[in-house]
Amino acid sequence: MPKTEHWGWYVERFAPTEEHHHAIGRVLYSGRSDFQQIAIIETEVFGKMLILDGDTQSSERDEHVYHETLVHPALAAAADRSNVLILGGGEGATLREVLRRPDVRLCTMVDIDGLVVDLAKRYLPEWSDGAFDDPRARVIIGDALAYLRDDREAYGAILSDLTEPLPDSPSHPLFNDAVFSLVKTRLAPGGIYALQASTAAIHNAALHCKMARTLRKHFRYVRSFFTHVPAFDTDWAFLACSDTVDVASTPAERIGEYCAGLRGTSAFYDAETHRRLFALPLYLRRMLAEEGEVF
Ligand code: SAM
Repeated sequence: MPKTEHWGWYVERFAPTEEHHHAIGRVLYSGRSDFQQIAIIETEVFGKMLILDGDTQSSERDEHVYHETLVHPALAAAADRSNVLILGGGEGATLREVLRRPDVRLCTMVDIDGLVVDLAKRYLPEWSDGAFDDPRARVIIGDALAYLRDDREAYGAILSDLTEPLPDSPSHPLFNDAVFSLVKTRLAPGGIYALQASTAAIHNAALHCKMARTLRKHFRYVRSFFTHVPAFDTDWAFLACSDTVDVASTPAERIGEYCAGLRGTSAFYDAETHRRLFALPLYLRRMLAEEGEVF
């Protein structure tokens, strides 16, 4: 690492007056695809980081926290895990976590940006850890919305690992009433739709609550859960939605059995972590109960 005064910085701007500065050790890639600006950098604290349109997607040091949280509460509770769909998920780490379960027969991942997937294979192979070569993986480069419209399969779990739905993001068209109801039609009985759902930090939970409110129009159970993700410098939230399964209430014994059936070693998720993920602070419970904007 060069001395401080010579460092270049990746500055993630949360608001005009709030920034997190990461000193860049090395830039592995910087360019643009047809869909977004892409950077892969190396930093001392977080290791390699994938950044899309100036927004941190995941870091080598803590990506397990994010990806295990997105995948395992939903799969542990799902009635049938044999057929799983991932929307987005370019790095291949969501795919990796899904395929750790031997009872997954097929996992389809649909990401719009082939360049992100290629760069992840080349520069971030630890994220996918061989998952792209697993015969149970089917990777489709295309728009997840078009895929959902054309597809006729039924999935035990649909996992949305899309970029933040900001107005100019290619993920934006996937966050609205019509699409949430379309997703529901693609779920098998007992199926679960889990999505990464923005920050739930006390000063910045409006987008998360808007997603939850909109999803509540379509699903009987819509559960928020969150964890701190250090590379994001905030509490990151997720939603688990189903008409039949309350993911927040999965019994510890079931989670224990599910985790025992995972190949390899987990870094974050088990029955104790599950309890912590779904134990929401008062401010968030209040915000989620309030009336407000929907998509
Ligand atoms: N962890 C992330 C975060 O915090 O936002 C999400 C990770 S993953 C890299 C996001 C992926 O969503 C990207 O690879 C991007 O190409 C993909 N994506 C965005 N819009 C999409 C769409 N309409 N269809 C399919 N994939 C999409």
